Amino acid sequence: VGILGAGQLGCMLAESLFRYGAQVHFYDVDPQAPGRHRTPFFTCADWQNREALQTFAKQCDVLTYEFENVNPEHLFALPRPTFPNPKVLQTTQYRSLEKEFLTSAQLPCTPHVVLNTIEDLNLFCQSFQPAIVKTLFGGYDGKGQWKVQTPHELHLLSKHLPLVAEEPLALVSEASVVVARGQNKSSLSVLGPFENIHHNHILDHTVFPASFPPDLQNTLIELAHIATQKLDVVGLLTTEFFICSKASLWTHMPRVQGHMFPCGKYHLAVNEFAPRPHNSGHVSRVAVPHSQFDLLARVLLNLPLPVRQQPLSAGVYVMGNLLGEHVTEPNKLERHKFMECEEVTLYGKTTSRPGRKMGHFCYHRAEETSAERLTTLRSLRS
Ligand code: ADP
Ligand code: MG
Repeated sequence: VGILGAGQLGCMLAESLFRYGAQVHFYDVDPQAPGRHRTPFFTCADWQNREALQTFAKQCDVLTYEFENVNPEHLFALPRPTFPNPKVLQTTQYRSLEKEFLTSAQLPCTPHVVLNTIEDLNLFCQSFQPAIVKTLFGGYDGKGQWKVQTPHELHLLSKHLPLVAEEPLALVSEASVVVARGQNKSSLSVLGPFENIHHNHILDHTVFPASFPPDLQNTLIELAHIATQKLDVVGLLTTEFFICSKASLWTHMPRVQGHMFPCGKYHLAVNEFAPRPHNSGHVSRVAVPHSQFDLLARVLLNLPLPVRQQPLSAGVYVMGNLLGEHVTEPNKLERHKFMECEEVTLYGKTTSRPGRKMGHFCYHRAEETSAERLTTLRSLRS
């Protein structure tokens, strides 16, 4: 199996693939990528190097990507099947195309205005509203997005055009659902909904099962299923959701696209997709028999998917990220603190910086209030 990208997602996928007897070949531009020591097959080359990509692909039977900024045109040209299809990547790697897809599929989406040109930006300023402004391409972990309060602040971002201005939603929660779809296209396997708590636009921790009411959980799963089928994903699709208690304020503004979906006392929108395993899904490594990485491995190897998975134990599973600010010196992590965790892992990144995902831990509790959770998380990271 060829994996484009040798970061932590690729490494955890490789672990699952090894258990099913597969061999793994990584491709990454970074000679220090976490996957470099996990397998003897490692191609270190640029993402734009078509020849290296071709040679890499020929040594594999099937390909996937853990990294979303690969040029889909290069992937279409590869002589091996790539899952998910590079068409999916084409749609999901541009926020504007992703939002067009959501609108055309009649799926709910954060109310927004696409600002392709300086004229669009000026027009937006005529009926200006504070917004969260994002680059269309290449953002991750809150990078490439800004809170904009005034037209002047927006003008300062004009060098980053094209952009999308989103309504700043008053979120009561965030969620994600991971759906695996098999090569036969009829088998689907779902993980989640996961309840996600972000700090500074970066995932802080995930709780599973989510504390949402059953009708909300079912709606999230249903919307994620529809998206997976309409995007024609074979492999994994993660759908990130925003959950609000108030309706949108932007819907009636000029040129605004996207609508929220009412569900009981909540209003939902899809935030974005990731056609790959997702940080929030790491909790599945300890909470269910087949993790998100197992499910993707099974799709790639054309093995049957589990239809339903129950959590391994009653109670609550929590995944907490270890960011650069928590792990300044990876070699000095005090592992004894994590004795009661089901998992603690560092990804093998050699340098640490604030906001960089260095590792994560997962633990299980029969019961835990949110106040107790904050104390647990704080003590594990201190
Ligand atoms: P990334 O690619 O960095 O994950 P996202 O668009 O998912 O980018 O944004 C990261 C986080 O920032 C979200 O999970 C959410 O917490 C916050 N955020 C982004 N857009 C909005 C919005 N329109 N309203 C409220 N919060 C937002
Ligand atoms: Mg996101």
